[in-house]
Amino acid sequence: MSVTAAPPSAIPNDISSVIEADRAHVWHHLLPHKPLETTDPRIIVEGKGMRVWDATGKEHLDAVSGGVWTVNVGYGREEIADAVRDQLVKLNYFANSAGSIPGAQFAEMLIDKMPGMSRVYYSNSGSEANEKVFKMVRQISQLRHGGKKYKVLYRERDYHGTTITALSATGQPQRAAQYGPYTPGFVEVPHCLEYRNQFPDAEDYGIAAANAIEEVILREGPDTVGLLCLEPITAGGGVITPPPSYWPRVQEICKKYDVLLHIDEVVCGVGRTGTWFGYQHYGIEPDFVTMAKGVASGYAAISCTVTTEAVFEMFKDDVSDPLHYFRDISTFGGCTAGPAAAIANMNIIVRENLLENTIAMGERFVNNLQGLAEKHRVIGDVRGKGLFCGAELVADRATKEPADEKKVQAVVADCMAQGLIIGATNRSLPGFNNTLCFSPALISTADDIDEITAGVDKALTRVFS
Ligand code: PLP
Repeated sequence: MSVTAAPPSAIPNDISSVIEADRAHVWHHLLPHKPLETTDPRIIVEGKGMRVWDATGKEHLDAVSGGVWTVNVGYGREEIADAVRDQLVKLNYFANSAGSIPGAQFAEMLIDKMPGMSRVYYSNSGSEANEKVFKMVRQISQLRHGGKKYKVLYRERDYHGTTITALSATGQPQRAAQYGPYTPGFVEVPHCLEYRNQFPDAEDYGIAAANAIEEVILREGPDTVGLLCLEPITAGGGVITPPPSYWPRVQEICKKYDVLLHIDEVVCGVGRTGTWFGYQHYGIEPDFVTMAKGVASGYAAISCTVTTEAVFEMFKDDVSDPLHYFRDISTFGGCTAGPAAAIANMNIIVRENLLENTIAMGERFVNNLQGLAEKHRVIGDVRGKGLFCGAELVADRATKEPADEKKVQAVVADCMAQGLIIGATNRSLPGFNNTLCFSPALISTADDIDEITAGVDKALTRVFS
């Protein structure tokens, strides 16, 4: 990777005091802090396009869109900053019990991309957007099913957020460990990663994995199960692209047992996989869709819980019941910066044909990774959809024993030393934190994709030979 002497604008003179302030006072996300006592915290100072610069002036090619699949349209978009600024000086905030101009306009734009959907509920994070669904389903259970149909099914290896209730729906055990007791009524169904087929005797793995959901519904009692909550493609759990027969069968099962279907598009939403939403690859008709990260590419905090008119109508049914409507508010769901940024973000995706680019660059990326698999036996499986790709590393291709976690982390660290930021499966998956994860911005060029591949090639060679 190219290393420049300084980022596009100079590092502030007082950067060492910034580093000290960070070390003294900031509690970073997801990190064990003991090692930070002896190393400098990593501070990212500036970003432009696909690249970021850290406090030492080192340039990094960002192959994970801000670390966690967020900066879909790339860094330094003045058009989004201008839209946010213009909106903030006009009206920064009013509680969303009143409407706002950007709130209404973005809702209309969004629904236009989501046939079958009709209503948008604004909040601030993916976790919160998912919690709204869980609350709505519990209330529907009260309004329609005598309180009985309240259970939520979630899938092994999926993740839906960080609050206690969202953690109750996590299929990544160490994420939730030590934070219990959890919210009752959440039940796990098996994952659908074909490479690690849990139903080896089945003729069709996708059908078998979907049928396993039906078994759980029957075991729990169909009249107790209100919601099935799934990522369209599992993200932090290992970039799991479901087999083709999986989704149609899942939809059929939901219809059969009157179970509402919630697709968590917090990662896949707004272009990441080359369609507006991940579920649109599979012809599914969800009842709820949630989204956050790419909605405004991290230029402002915004999340959306989107649902159908049929669901919305249930909250208008019995006006004689004073509790019949959705009695929920998210204070900052009334911030206008979010929808203002989201409108500009969506305009950029359309104008620059970023969905088409994502499909083309995603195919190139998967081909490149398959090329690496021919050279590096440690790559057991390559998966991907659009600019959302993964390479699962194994100690032995025959047994599929996962590669040593320390070596997987060494690949990530080697890339980082080269000036290339990549990711790996969430460390909370004991035994399965062995998938390298890539999600570069939707503006990636062929050169960017080849540069990422070359960096990973070097790292794999150094770590595994
Ligand atoms: N859903 C999925 C699929 C996610 O990957 C995440 C976060 O990574 C969330 C929900 C939670 O989003 P947030 O961190 O914005 O609360």
